[in-house]
Amino acid sequence: MLDSIFEAIYLVGFIAGSVIRRLATRQYRRHSAAISRETELDKLLIMLASIGMILMPLFYLLTPWLDFADYCLPTWAGLIGAAVFAVSLWLLWRSHADLDGSWSPYLEIREEHSLVTHGVFLHIRHPMYAAHWLWGIAQALLLQNWIAGLAMLASFLPLYLVRVVREEEMMLESFGEEYRSYMNRTGRVIPRLWGERV
Ligand code: SAH
Repeated sequence: MLDSIFEAIYLVGFIAGSVIRRLATRQYRRHSAAISRETELDKLLIMLASIGMILMPLFYLLTPWLDFADYCLPTWAGLIGAAVFAVSLWLLWRSHADLDGSWSPYLEIREEHSLVTHGVFLHIRHPMYAAHWLWGIAQALLLQNWIAGLAMLASFLPLYLVRVVREEEMMLESFGEEYRSYMNRTGRVIPRLWGERV
């Protein structure tokens, strides 16, 4: 009974996250890129992450085929999962709102790109990736299944590791000292609340 409530909460969050991403993608198509660092590897890793974030959860929720791999967590874990999912969705929404026309699903600098350092970008450089990590944790707590629950964490890891370093290199090339000083006063996905890196 409780696990189906947690699955329903996951589904509502999943739909909310999909709407946020859909609206951002519509706006993205209206802008063109000045610099693109998109590679075949990026496309492959995005596809892999989509399997863990979209396909596996839907497969689990809509078919009984993964039920053999279920695990059972205490109620408080599911409640924490719901709270973490809410924070993840809020962060996803705010990071899209703060990035505005500078968002891209790929490594790109748009023609009218400006460096965003306000809002949820104030203390962390990658709030959207932080939102994805939180989503992955929420998924493991709400979908209590070794395959569907852990699929997001496992499939996002390679994308994150490859992407974040190359993204920061691209930002440094495009924004120079402005980005370097922003790097010094922020954390990657964990907020840097005081003190600059020396
Ligand atoms: N890594 C960021 C943004 C992800 S979207 C986050 O996790 O929130 C990826 C695009 O965002 C990249 O193509 C890059 O051009 C752009 N980007 C990343 N950080 C940015 C910033 N601080 N200001 C403006 N654009 C940024």
